[in-house]
Amino acid sequence: MANCNETIRELDAFLDGELPDDVRDHIHLHLDSCMDCLQAFDFQAELKLAIRRKCSTEEMPAGLLGRIEMCFNTDLDEDGIIGPA
Ligand SMILES: [Zn+2]
Repeated sequence: MANCNETIRELDAFLDGELPDDVRDHIHLHLDSCMDCLQAFDFQAELKLAIRRKCSTEEMPAGLLGRIEMCFNTDLDEDGIIGPA
């Protein structure tokens, strides 16, 4: 049975479907019993989906992009452009 380190290390290949069946089985078994790895797996899977979606449609809601830019600006400017004057 795979341990956490192995599972995390193979996560990327696992999601890309690049692993042999027996390794996939090990990882499936581990994810069934390990909440930590399952969460990492979910996060990674969602990230991949989002990237794939973005690449295939090339469309991103303008509002979302603006909000991301706003976040970066806020992080860079600690005085806070959004906060009360
Ligand atoms: Zn684990």
